[in-house]
Amino acid sequence: MTQEDLFKKIIAHSKEYGFIFQSSEIYDGLSAVYDYGQNGVELKNNIREYWWKSMVQMHENIVGLDSAIFMHPTIWKASGHVDAFNDPLIDNKDSKKRYRADVLIEDFRAKYEQKISKEVEKAEKKFGDAFNKEQFLATNPNVIRNVEKINELNKRFVAALEKNDLNEIRQIIIDNEIVCPISGTKNWTEVRQFNLMFSTQMGSLSEDANTIYLRPETAQGIFVNYLNIQKTGRMKIPFGIAQTGKAFRNEIVARQFIFRMREFEQMELQFFVKPGEELTWFEYWKEQRMKWHKALGIPAEKYRFHQHEKLAHYANAAFDIEFEFPFGFKELEGIHSRTDFDLNQHEKFTNKKLRYFDPELNESYVPYVVETSIGLDRTFLAIMTYAYNEEKLADGTERVVLKLPAALAPVKAVVMPLVKKDGLPEKAREIIDNLKFDFNCQIDEKDSIGKRYRRQDAVGTPFCITVDHQTLEDNMVTLRYRDSMEQERIPIEQLSGIISEKVSLKNLFKLQA
Ligand code: ATP
Repeated sequence: MTQEDLFKKIIAHSKEYGFIFQSSEIYDGLSAVYDYGQNGVELKNNIREYWWKSMVQMHENIVGLDSAIFMHPTIWKASGHVDAFNDPLIDNKDSKKRYRADVLIEDFRAKYEQKISKEVEKAEKKFGDAFNKEQFLATNPNVIRNVEKINELNKRFVAALEKNDLNEIRQIIIDNEIVCPISGTKNWTEVRQFNLMFSTQMGSLSEDANTIYLRPETAQGIFVNYLNIQKTGRMKIPFGIAQTGKAFRNEIVARQFIFRMREFEQMELQFFVKPGEELTWFEYWKEQRMKWHKALGIPAEKYRFHQHEKLAHYANAAFDIEFEFPFGFKELEGIHSRTDFDLNQHEKFTNKKLRYFDPELNESYVPYVVETSIGLDRTFLAIMTYAYNEEKLADGTERVVLKLPAALAPVKAVVMPLVKKDGLPEKAREIIDNLKFDFNCQIDEKDSIGKRYRRQDAVGTPFCITVDHQTLEDNMVTLRYRDSMEQERIPIEQLSGIISEKVSLKNLFKLQA
């Protein structure tokens, strides 16, 4: 199956099994906005809980916040978003499609990277165990040529970004003969800047109208509350504030399903540290966040760090964690050392002191901040990408199984009475009425057991519990495991213990310790 096919299948599967629907579908949809269905909302809630507890419950010095989406408009002036939260846009005159000029260049660069990966794959197959990847990368002429091309492109691209030189960005597109994926032509307009913030009016009378913005990131809600929390929570530096919530960006390249949405959810940590210690904490959080991802059981080679080519004006270090989506390695999370930029700006714009009094140094200072910022929807897509599997079974049939980490599965166990009579449904209900205090469980009485197993595999339910006539006599049920499809006969009173052992978030937390 090609990666493109895989992606199409994930999108279709997400819809068919109630994970993700296009927003306003019956009105022909709203571009780059999505709704989470009955299974999607459970998975999304579980990912959020995994993140939240990894931050707030597992760290004594991190607390949470839920700040409003609407904030004073001057906040976005102070943060730089009104003046500089822009994307460089370019239109293709033939297809009339609009693109982010930087993304066109990045996608073009990715093609060289793909060529290198293909060479490596080919050589791996040819040389088998004797293959030395490092040596191959350093000596193969095709690889060397492609690396040179990447370096050359990077050099020009970074210089253009640093100077904010829109003409040069266009020239890079022209010189590299980058074509529109729709029309296939090189008929490009100039590159222009486009602000990504959505605005609306607050106040019911137009004369009172005041333009406010839908927040493009949750971070500013943390900065403007940092002293409230520090004082009321008597927090000592270093400490962190975690927040999850909706953010809004008027994205132009609004494709790739839930990878790039106009309304999405972020999970952000701002970690406040003593000036001068930020790079040590930056390293700590880089490592910690990678552990969080790997604890999910997704193979390590699906992730990589990517150092920012161009640092934002407020940052003194920035790395992304990239994930290999079906459309290539792309940003999943950003880890940024934001210095004291944001708090300084808010001091300037409010004329209020946002200093922390350090009792050990007996002095006040504006803390430095290390940020970890991850998209909940992108994490959802990463997990779905890994979890979606088509398997050929021993009896010649096939199944689609979502191998979701058990702790994140929407439904943990489904109880299935073998037939819908003879007291079996009642027994099933008795079991579920006990399990539901601890887990999200369901009962499934329709169709053959085989069909019911397939249905549960497709939504990633880790356990199926079958109640048969024998159960009424010996209080034993058949427990079936999703991944191995093994079945075992166990006493009903052992169910809760077996399930909780497997589905507890504790398993994931321990891997990060
Ligand atoms: P990109 O370069 O892909 O536009 P970004 O660098 O603008 O992303 P950040 O501002 O660092 O992203 O936001 C932090 C995280 O929020 C990202 O790593 C991503 O997971 C998520 N995110 C950002 N924009 C979107 C979006 N439009 N849709 C879904 N998730 C998003």
